[in-house]
Amino acid sequence: MRIARVASRAQLGLTAPRVQVEVHLGGGLPTFSIVGLPATAVKESKDRVRAALHNSGFEFPAGRITVNLSPADLPKEGCRYDLPIALGILLALGEIKIPVSELERCEFYGELGLSGELKPIRGILHAAAHAAHDDRNVVVPTSNLYEARLVAAQTTRHAATLLGVCALFRGAPAQESADFAPAETLPALSSVPDLADVRGQAAAKRALLVAAAGAHSLLLVGPPGTGKSMLAQRLPGLLPPLEGDEALDVATIASVSLRGFEPRDFGRRPFRAPHHSASASAVIGGGPHARPGEVSLAHRGVLFLDELPEFNRTVLESLREPLESGVVAISRAAFQVEYPARFQLVAAMNPCPCGYLGDVSGRCRCAPPVIARYRSRISGPLLDRIDLRVEVPPLPSEELLGEVGADATAMSSAMVAGRVHDARRRQQRRAGKLNSDLTSGEIQRHCRLDRNCRRLLAQARERLNLSARAMHRALRVARTIADLDESGSGNETGPNIGPAHLAEALQLRRAID
Ligand SMILES: [Zn+2]
Repeated sequence: MRIARVASRAQLGLTAPRVQVEVHLGGGLPTFSIVGLPATAVKESKDRVRAALHNSGFEFPAGRITVNLSPADLPKEGCRYDLPIALGILLALGEIKIPVSELERCEFYGELGLSGELKPIRGILHAAAHAAHDDRNVVVPTSNLYEARLVAAQTTRHAATLLGVCALFRGAPAQESADFAPAETLPALSSVPDLADVRGQAAAKRALLVAAAGAHSLLLVGPPGTGKSMLAQRLPGLLPPLEGDEALDVATIASVSLRGFEPRDFGRRPFRAPHHSASASAVIGGGPHARPGEVSLAHRGVLFLDELPEFNRTVLESLREPLESGVVAISRAAFQVEYPARFQLVAAMNPCPCGYLGDVSGRCRCAPPVIARYRSRISGPLLDRIDLRVEVPPLPSEELLGEVGADATAMSSAMVAGRVHDARRRQQRRAGKLNSDLTSGEIQRHCRLDRNCRRLLAQARERLNLSARAMHRALRVARTIADLDESGSGNETGPNIGPAHLAEALQLRRAID
């Protein structure tokens, strides 16, 4: 056979279109051309494949080699096609033989090192999941094995070198390489920080509980060093563990990102905290390969934006879309990709540029117009989308110095997580979704108010000049507070919203009005 076909897949957002690698060996002057790859990737891939074949003891064919990666109009990254290209050459040469029926059921992935070793590629989890869905086997570098087996345990074969791949098809017994670490031998997860470590701040902890229970977005306002970041970092530990499909979605997004997939993070809620100097493409996603950004890496987890007013205005404005729709679309000249971005936003900011407005020491010298300009960097529409806004004041010295055990507000993450779990179950029973996702029609149905509550809301609307959107947000929060309040609720879906619930919901959005 002077022609060979080997299957693989490209990665385009979270889709994985099939790619056919065709190799043709012809007579004539020795040339090696690859079509269907971007120019720079072609050169690098050719060099790696040539060296790897040579150093694995194969004679590099003397004639004309043409490799076609089809379809040609699909954007492709070079590295993952090294193995299918090298294998195609060996098949066309007759150096190895694989029955067509077997070859057609198999996909190959891997970057080649110059000595013929197989190096891991990005996005293997994603490729293996699609292959498994199409009932196809995959051959992956051993260093990618753990990732591939998460989604394709029965159909993944692996090798550490090009020769190892050839051996797989000569009926050699499969070898478990030392590189392969089954899940139970992976180092333990670093422990998630516990809420019990945070002193005082009862009001902020209460807001964190409400935020966790209803998946509400949260803004913490306070001077430096009062524990805003500590509180935010503890939110993932209050949320229920990821369910099967959610865990796979999160792992798949990580697997196609620049950072790559970290097996130890599997099943864990993401916590992402980009620096305020981060670019729009880092936060929203983009770059030449349209990689997922922080908002997608935080999918099903927490996106923490510390020093919110310091973020670039474009970045802040571009958050509005994913906050509403839960997805981001990235357009390139040749293609468009979509990534899920259903994250919970937690933001933190100082009350003024120096951070010490209202401090008893009187050290803040910020003039009112300077403070107003600082706060106006967060636009009204963005602020409107934040359900809870609470102050995190400096701790009185007796709380700061007191014994942790004596802290009257001490609550462990496990205690809070239990209450969050119960409240979320009520929401799922009632509406099939969490309160933060209720549409305006559903708010009418599930957030019924009695006469006292209606009067309270009307007064608040007038006094605080609330927009319709702000009223809806307050009602969703009041629904969550009622769900957390078990008093007198014999029914499974929790008590109705009472004046105390509504008053607390209105109070919880007042920090920087
Ligand atoms: Zn100040």
